[in-house]
Amino acid sequence: EANRVYNFNPGPATLPLEVLKQAQEELLNFSGSGMSIMEISHRAKEYDAVHNQAKEDIKELMGLGSDYDVLFIQGGASMQFAMVPMNFAAADKKGNYVLSGSFASKAYKEAEIQGVGTVAASSKDNDFRNIPKQNELKISADASYLHVCYNNTIYGTEYHYIPETNGIPLVADMSSDMLSRPLDFSKFSLIYAGVQKNLGPAGVTIVVAKKSFIENSPENIPTMLRYNTYSQKNSLYNTPPAFCIYMVGKVASWLKRQGGLTAIAERNAKKASLLYDVIDSSSGFYKGHAEKDSRSFMNVTFRLPTEELEAKFIAEAKDNKLCGIKGHRSVGGLRASIYNAMSYDGVKCLTDFMEQFQTANK
Ligand code: PMP
Repeated sequence: EANRVYNFNPGPATLPLEVLKQAQEELLNFSGSGMSIMEISHRAKEYDAVHNQAKEDIKELMGLGSDYDVLFIQGGASMQFAMVPMNFAAADKKGNYVLSGSFASKAYKEAEIQGVGTVAASSKDNDFRNIPKQNELKISADASYLHVCYNNTIYGTEYHYIPETNGIPLVADMSSDMLSRPLDFSKFSLIYAGVQKNLGPAGVTIVVAKKSFIENSPENIPTMLRYNTYSQKNSLYNTPPAFCIYMVGKVASWLKRQGGLTAIAERNAKKASLLYDVIDSSSGFYKGHAEKDSRSFMNVTFRLPTEELEAKFIAEAKDNKLCGIKGHRSVGGLRASIYNAMSYDGVKCLTDFMEQFQTANK
């Protein structure tokens, strides 16, 4: 596809070309129905198969069994920030939060609005360059859950351990590293992710949760904000974002064809070390934002010696078909998002460009 670029956008982000082509092929006539997936009833058997297969494939990839449910919810990961405390926290049983970046802080803010949030740890004083370590977590013994943001998209940091909570349910925002590596997912009570980074187009949020954790949503909150509603109605209480779920299903089966999470994690680690090695061996020309032991496999954040050079880098990279590498305004500099669908070749093109740029501008 000669006219496609290497897309390092943080989300919406690059999708596997194979998946886009399948969607293109099926667009006018899905599964012999004579309609597109966007035009079919969400109660039709053709849609039902897509919906249920996507759920099954996600659980299979994560190695989870029948004690977990997969839900499809709208409103983005940002709505999960509010739903989690609404469903699980109370004035005498607050949600405990680790503040490791801006989305983690936004999640905490929603709990604060409801008067049900406390802070277990924060790396704000260190410009969110690190993930707080296990021994820095002050988990309240009476917390209703511990909330962590597993990969901090803006700062480029990621957990490299699963917090030990001594029985307190662990809730994780995995929006920017969902299905990027195998983990013992059974240690989490609830995981959520807006799909527009690793898994599909914007418009749906995947929630993977322990059934026993979500079956007792309070009765006095709106129906559409109760996890129970989604689990009891197979996420079909109202019209689901069918096209998004269809695309998520296609990405999940693409992931299975790649060899599942172990295989994709190996590829992701190779891509990340290629990029971090160029940063580390640049004699300080490129400076990473994240501390080394907190570095993300998904979002690589770095700076150049001056803002002028950063602007020049972004412009020249674009001329080389390397797009979407401007950093978030709160960190500045550059950010290469290298999610599952970014190829090794794409990252190699970027690192080759970085080396040439350094030689030409040092
Ligand atoms: N959490 C993380 C880690 C994110 O990266 C983002 C989006 N960039 C969000 C939450 C918010 O997601 P949404 O836009 O789907 O509400």
